[in-house]
Amino acid sequence: MQQTDRLPGALTQLSQDETLFRDSVYQFADREIRPLVREMDAHAKIPPDLLPRLFDLGVMAIEIPEVHGGAGGTFFHSVLAVEALSRVDASIGVLVDVQNTLVINALLRWGADAQKSAYLPRLASETIGAYALSESGSGSDAFAMATRATERGDGFVLNGRKLWITNANEAGLFIVFANVNPDAGYKGITAFLVERGFSGFTVGRKEDKLGIRASSTCELLLEDCHVPRANVLGDVGKGYKVAIETLNEGRIGIGAQMLGLAQGALDAAIHYTRERKQFGKTIAEFQGVQFQLARAATDVEAARLMVYNAARLRDAGAPFLKEAAMCKVFSSEVAERVSSLAVNLFGGYGFVKDYPVEKFFRDAKIGQIYEGTSNLQLQTIAKQILG
Ligand SMILES: Cc1cc2nc3c(=O)[nH]c(=O)nc-3n(C[C@H](O)[C@H](O)[C@H](O)COP(=O)(O)OP(=O)(O)OC[C@H]3O[C@@H](n4cnc5c(N)ncnc54)[C@H](O)[C@@H]3O)c2cc1C
Repeated sequence: MQQTDRLPGALTQLSQDETLFRDSVYQFADREIRPLVREMDAHAKIPPDLLPRLFDLGVMAIEIPEVHGGAGGTFFHSVLAVEALSRVDASIGVLVDVQNTLVINALLRWGADAQKSAYLPRLASETIGAYALSESGSGSDAFAMATRATERGDGFVLNGRKLWITNANEAGLFIVFANVNPDAGYKGITAFLVERGFSGFTVGRKEDKLGIRASSTCELLLEDCHVPRANVLGDVGKGYKVAIETLNEGRIGIGAQMLGLAQGALDAAIHYTRERKQFGKTIAEFQGVQFQLARAATDVEAARLMVYNAARLRDAGAPFLKEAAMCKVFSSEVAERVSSLAVNLFGGYGFVKDYPVEKFFRDAKIGQIYEGTSNLQLQTIAKQILG
C-alpha cells in the first residue's frame, strides 16, 4: 500500500515543535533540577526560586491561549513536559501535571469568560494551582464528601476539610469541591475557585511521605470560608461533572509521570550496569542482566505507546476513557517494576541514598494510588469492556 499524507504517523513520532519542546524541558530538568533532587527529597521541599524558573521555561501554562499569556499548546505537550520532568524528578513532574492537566484544564473547559480573564494570566505568570476533591472519609468514593457550601448573601460559605492536596503549600488558587445540597447526593456537588487569601481558608498540616517527598501534600481547612458567586466554576450542582471529566484527562498525566519515572530508572540502570565490574566484566555483559534490561525497555516502550495514544485521542476529540485508565494502570505498574529492577541491578548501592534509584522506587508507588487507585481504574476499564 502506498503511504499517503493522510495516514497517521507512528505514535512516538513527534513533530519538530514537539521534539524541541520535549528536549528543552528535559535539558532544563537535567541541568537545573537533577542537582537539587536529593536535597529536595531529604528536606521534602521544592526550593522557592525553582518555581519562577518553571514559569519561564513555559511548562506552567502549556494549554493556556497566548492571549492570556500561555503557550497555546496541546494536552499532548503537557504529557511530554510531565514525562521529561519526571525522568529526573517525579515531584516536579506532578507539580506541573496538576497545574496543567487538572487546574488549567478545568478552567479552560468550565470557566466563564470573566474567570478565564481573571485567573488564566495569573496561572500563566506566577500562580500555582491545586485541585481539592479528597477528604479523610472520601477518597475512592469522592462524591461522599462532607464539605458543605451554604448560600449566603452574594455567594457561598464553605465549611469542611480537604486532605491530600498536592501543591497546597505553593498554590495561590484552589479548585475546591463542596456539596451545596446533600439531599441531592452527588448532584449537589459544586466546584469553587478559592484564592489562598480568602477569609476562612487555611492550608494545614503537610504530610511526611514515602515518595514524591518534595511535592507538598496538605490538608485544607475551610471555616466559614466566603466564596463569591462569581467564583463558582461551571454550574451549581454540576461539580461532579467538573471532577469526573477533569480527572478522566488528568490520569493520562499521571501515566506520563510514571512513564518518565520508569525511563529515568532505566537510564540509571543502563548507565550503571555498563560501568560496574564483577567477575572481570561489566555486569551489562552478562546475558542475565541484558535480558532484564531488554524486558524493562520493552515495558517502558509499551507504557509510552499507551500514554501517547490516550493523549492524542484526547487532543483529537475522540473517546479516550478506557485508554486513559489503561495507561495509568499500566504505566504505574511499569514504574514500580522498572525502578525495582534498577535497585536490584545497583546491588547494595541501590539501597542507599547516595544513588538515585531507591528514590525512583519510592516515588513509583504513588502512581497506583492518586487520581483513582488502580482498582478504580480497573473498574472503569471493566465497565467499558463489559458495557
Ligand atoms: C501524595 C498524594 C497526593 C494526592 N493529591 C491529591 C490532590 O491533589 N487532590 C485530591 O483531591 N486528592 C489527592 N490525593 C488523594 C488520592 O486521590 C486518594 O488517596 C485516592 O483517591 C484513594 O483514596 P483513599 O486514600 O481514601 O483510599 P480508599 O478509597 O480508602 O481506598 C483504599 C483501598 O480500597 C480500594 N477500594 C476502594 N473502593 C474500591 C472498590 N469499589 N473496589 C475495589 N477496591 C476499592 C482502593 O483501590 C484502595 O486499594 C492524593 C493522595 C496522595 C497520597
